[in-house]
Amino acid sequence: MLQQVNGHNPRSDGQAREYLREDLQEFLDGEVLLYQLDDLTRVNPVTLETVLRCLQARYMADRFYTNAGCTLVALNPFKPIPQLYSPELMREYHAAPQPQKLKPHVFTVGEQTYRNVKSLIEPVNQSIVVSGESGAGKTWTSRCLMKFYAVVAASPASWETHKIAERIEQRILNSNPVMEAFGNACTLRNNNSSRFGKFIQLQLNRAQQMTGAAVQTYLLEKTRVACQASSERNFHIFYQICKGASEDERLQWHLPEGAAFSWLPNPERSLEEDCFEVTREAMLHLGIDTPTQNNIFKVLAGLLHLGNIQFAASEDEAQPCQPMDDAKCSVRTASLLLGLPEDVLLETVQIRTIRAGRQQQVFRKPCPQAECDTRRDCLAKLIYARLFDWLVSVINSSICADTDSWTTFIGLLDVYGFESFPDNSLEQLCINYANEKLQQHFVAHYLRAQQECRLNRPSSAAQLQTRIETALAGSPCLGHNKLSREPSFIVVHYAGPVRYHTAGLVEKNKDPVPPELTRLLQQSQDPLLMGLFPTNPKEKTQEEPSGQSRNPVLTVVSKFKASLEQLLQVLHSTTPHYIRCIKPNSQGQAQTFVQEEVLSQLEACGLVETIHISAAGFPIRISHQNFVERYKLLRRLRPHTSSGPHSPYTAKGLPEWCPHSEEAMLEPLIQDILHTLPVLTQAAATP
Ligand code: ATP
Ligand code: MG
Repeated sequence: MLQQVNGHNPRSDGQAREYLREDLQEFLDGEVLLYQLDDLTRVNPVTLETVLRCLQARYMADRFYTNAGCTLVALNPFKPIPQLYSPELMREYHAAPQPQKLKPHVFTVGEQTYRNVKSLIEPVNQSIVVSGESGAGKTWTSRCLMKFYAVVAASPASWETHKIAERIEQRILNSNPVMEAFGNACTLRNNNSSRFGKFIQLQLNRAQQMTGAAVQTYLLEKTRVACQASSERNFHIFYQICKGASEDERLQWHLPEGAAFSWLPNPERSLEEDCFEVTREAMLHLGIDTPTQNNIFKVLAGLLHLGNIQFAASEDEAQPCQPMDDAKCSVRTASLLLGLPEDVLLETVQIRTIRAGRQQQVFRKPCPQAECDTRRDCLAKLIYARLFDWLVSVINSSICADTDSWTTFIGLLDVYGFESFPDNSLEQLCINYANEKLQQHFVAHYLRAQQECRLNRPSSAAQLQTRIETALAGSPCLGHNKLSREPSFIVVHYAGPVRYHTAGLVEKNKDPVPPELTRLLQQSQDPLLMGLFPTNPKEKTQEEPSGQSRNPVLTVVSKFKASLEQLLQVLHSTTPHYIRCIKPNSQGQAQTFVQEEVLSQLEACGLVETIHISAAGFPIRISHQNFVERYKLLRRLRPHTSSGPHSPYTAKGLPEWCPHSEEAMLEPLIQDILHTLPVLTQAAATP
């Protein structure tokens, strides 16, 4: 029966759907053949259950890609399938007269995107937005697309060079292991989790050949350098150095075999030795020579020793906390590796300098133990974040084409997926906010595209409109947790409500760097650090405002928001394509499809709604009121009231809050978030 439905019959699509509707039970029972449905718009009725079962059947039949209207659903196989990604197959998709007629594949999206650039009289930039939760396969998919373009868009000029590594395509591919070594880490959800967002523009010349690329990164999770959740790890590069260094290097970097570092938890994993070689090779090909590499690794070893400096609490508040006995040698080694005078390093971490009074007199105040720890961590984060940014700029200078040698680009976006943990803080707020905006971009673009091309089709649009509006009205926008006593607020994201803890949020948002720390690093005699922390920086580094002179502080959220807005502007100027990666199980096992886990991902990305719109061509529009309701971002909870939800907005349009200090401190952050509301509501109001 399903063979008839697969479109290998004279019936039109509409008739096929009709046919299915009558035989729903049979359809659901016919799981053996469900795997043949290449496009989820052919499933009927489109419900979470039918979509889920279709994906499951396909997964078990090793069909990992499925179309869902304008989106490609990519199920993570969790096993190597070399033949599915071979250069031969890439060429097959590239050469096909109609690649969309071949089996759904990431190469179909790659090829269609590529053709879109060239088929138009006026070339139009393209972008591919890869989304999905952690471990779903976003980075894998982006890498796969980069490899695809490295094959199909290779410039003949680059083939003239004999050394593969010198080809621009290869250099672009080499940026992956380097960025992953420094920006990825093993987490509970993914052994190779990207701890930063990435947008890479693959630059093409008029002949559609790839002549270069430019990378932009977002929000590196720098706290990981100094603080790793239990069972998680630091960035890969630290383990690679410790396991892959030669004996000579170990000696130079003070990394004796088996040394224990508190910032290097869970080291018991293999293959890091091999990875170190790969990272080094790739760095070399990107123009980072061996002495510079060694300098980088020396500084990173310095950070590991810095992490071993534990302070003992001081009994006398007027006296600085001293490093514990076994940490004294770490102070010496860290200062040696970081090119800093030992006493200055220690003092800067132990003692806070405050400028006060009209004369801006300098007062020195010994920090309590916890603050010493914070300052030590802050130092490491400062160094690591600068190093990462510098690496990205070096990579860019190595792979970016001259402005006159490219005309169009294909952008690949690989950002963190939506996150909801028991404890959510500023990191999650930023990530989820980005996802919110990307989802908006998707909805706005997709609905617009549908209105353009489907308006004339007869459909029961009104019916769907009512359904969606009802669903939205019943959505958990107004959810609240009465049991919570901690100050927190709920943001109702498209993927579900998330409660964010207020504690520490304000501080994190300010991301203060005590000026003494920057000044300390400016004294370093280490060539790399001297470059990263110049004495006369052109760009003023963000420092804690001192005394009366309060400069406007760029908060983490406002900086992130600005870079996100820039990204969205770029995306808006392109024709977007979407790939939704789905993780079939959280254990990372092949041939295992856990329905509940997939279901929540399908719900989070609104896939069923997407298919509905695609299948029926409904032009849907959410009313302004409903939109505002749905994207009402903040719902603050009053810890001391047990009555129902309050209106989160006062007459001024700002959240109402009790004037107790911690919450009032949230004002700048909330303002930042509220500034985004007009953007969202405008998008809704635009027909
Ligand atoms: P994060 O948000 O944590 O960075 P991610 O979505 O980028 O997660 P990936 O790192 O791309 O996830 O994928 C996780 C793992 O799943 C990979 O390391 C790889 O082992 C496996 N994987 C993903 N896609 C495929 C594929 N198409 N074929 C084989 N294995 C895959
Ligand atoms: Mg990733």
